[in-house]
Parts: sequence; structure tokens; C-alpha cells
Amino acid sequence: KSDNAMYYSKKTGRNHATFYGTKGMEREDEALRMELLLKEAMKKEEFSLVYQPQVELLSGKITGVEALLRWHSQELGTVPPNQFIKVAEDSGLIIELGNWVTKKALSDLAKWNQLGYQLEMSVNISTHQFYHPEFLLCLERMIKDEKVPPSQLVLEITESIASHAEVVQKELQKIKELGLKVAIDDFGTGYSSLKYLKDFPIDYLKIDKSFVDGIEEDDKSRDIVSTIITLAHNLGMLTVAEGAETRKQVDFLKMEGCDSVQGYYYGKPMTEASLLDFLTVYEPHN
Ligand code: C2E
Ligand code: MG
Ligand code: MG
Ligand code: MG
Repeated sequence: KSDNAMYYSKKTGRNHATFYGTKGMEREDEALRMELLLKEAMKKEEFSLVYQPQVELLSGKITGVEALLRWHSQELGTVPPNQFIKVAEDSGLIIELGNWVTKKALSDLAKWNQLGYQLEMSVNISTHQFYHPEFLLCLERMIKDEKVPPSQLVLEITESIASHAEVVQKELQKIKELGLKVAIDDFGTGYSSLKYLKDFPIDYLKIDKSFVDGIEEDDKSRDIVSTIITLAHNLGMLTVAEGAETRKQVDFLKMEGCDSVQGYYYGKPMTEASLLDFLTVYEPHN
């Protein structure tokens, strides 16, 4: 590759070849290969969604699920989202992919409504999607097409979205007017500003797994978890703890008044068919 090509890709923000030397080049080639495969993956129907239950601690009931994207590539095998979402974002593919996720999640939700289940559906929204000019229009259309009550859809955004605060506030206001809910994902790991918690209409704070992991390990994690719960409640928001795996963690979260838990302790992300089986046999327990 010529120096020119390197400069170009550096300018588009796609890699750091200049800093990493040959290793960076390999990494860039890898990303480019993945990008090409991602483009085909849509046509080849290699994407699917899995759903992880969220349990309300007070009632012990499953009140919602989070939709999580899976890619089973013919060439690469199963690629975890943490490896391909970034590539999809950098290449702009995330718009089409994100729309596919929302569409599929809403159509499954409509089906479950028909079966008599009343669940909330959380969908991860990348910052790139959120800032796309047609984001809300598409969303509105999909909700109408699938005929689901907007209040059943929760948009999970991260703290990084808050970097353009004024734009975000207007957008979130419109989202609320549509009747949708908003969750801050991985709360406490980004550049949190308390100001946006005050100004933005947010329904849920999702306590990041790293703090939940620490519940059995250290005082500081426990203190952070209880402080987030108090903060959320004082501001009229609910809390969802991410990644709880043990009884001890769940007991602590319950004691501190955390509203819901999503973690392997209650259930791993599962296919739609498995979720329906799971819902059939699940007994509320607390
Ligand atoms: P996230 O939104 O914070 O999702 C929670 C992640 O924690 C999921 O990983 C889930 O499988 C994992 N998890 C939940 N409970 C436990 C537990 O008890 N133990 C452990 N070890 N892990 C647990 P996953 O599915 O690999 O997704 C990783 C990230 O990829 C997500 O983090 C989200 O940021 C992103 N992602 C996934 N699907 C989508 C999507 O459709 N769109 C976008 N933009 N991002 C997505
Ligand atoms: Mg999430
Ligand atoms: Mg999270
Ligand atoms: Mg995460």
C-alpha cells in the first residue's frame, strides 16, 4: 500500500497505521476484510437476535428483554458484537444493520403481544444511528408497521451520546413525545455528567457489569452501586443491574432497592424459540 493510501485511511479515522506500523496495517486489513464480509452478511442472512430476560426484583417477574445481535459468519465463524459493531459503525453499515435489529425486535415483540406476553423490548442504539437525520422517522414507521405500543420499546444509548448535548436533548424530547423509553447503558463507565441526567428525559440507568462484578469483591463497588440506585430514584428513574451472575449479587441489589436485574443468574441471551420456552416454564421467584 502506498503512503497515500495510508494517509487517506488515517484521515477517515479508520486506523492508526502510522502509529502501529506493520501491526496496524494487519489490523486495518482485518477490519477491511470484516467490513466486506459484513456487507455480504446482510444478504446472506447471517445475522440473528438473541434475547436476554430482565427480572423485576420486587415481583420476581420477567418484565422485559434486551435484544442482542449475533453474527454467524460463514468465513469467520461466530463473531462477538464487541468485535464487529465498531467496524459496522466506522463503515456506516450500522445504519442498515441497526434498522434490521429494530425491525426484527419489534416484529418478535408484536408476536409475543399476540401470545399474551407483555414485555418491554430494549434495543441498543449506536451513537451513529442516533445522529442519523432519518433515525426517528424510520423508528416511527417501524413502530406503526408492527403495531406495537411505543411504550414497550426502550432505546439503550450510552453516555458517549451526550457529547452534543443540545442536539441530544431535542432528539430525546421527540423520542419521549413518541412515547418511547430511554435507558442509559453501561452507566458509570463513560464520561458521565450529572448535568445531562438532570436535563435529559431518561427512564432507566443500567448499572454497568463491572460494578455488579465488584459487589462481592470490594466496598467501593458496593458503594457505587447503592449510590447509582439512590441517584436514579431521586431523579425519578429506574435501575437495571447488568451482568449479575450470583445469588449474593442479586441479594445485595435487592437489599439496595435496585429495580431489575439482567444477568446469567436469571438467564443468558437466548434465541426467540428458547425464550418462548423459558417464559412458559418460568416461575416468578424472589
Ligand atoms: P450491552 O448492551 O451492555 O449488553 C450486555 C452484554 O452483557 C451482552 O453481551 C450480554 O450477553 C452480556 N451479559 C449479560 N449478562 C451477563 C452475565 O451475567 N455475565 C456475562 N459474562 N455477560 C453478561 P453481548 O451480547 O456480547 O453484547 C456486547 C455489546 O455489544 C452490548 O453490550 C452492546 O454494546 C453491543 N451490542 C449488542 N447488540 C447490539 C445491537 O444490536 N446494536 C448495537 N449498536 N450494539 C449492540
Ligand atoms: Mg445494552
Ligand atoms: Mg450494558
Ligand atoms: Mg456493555
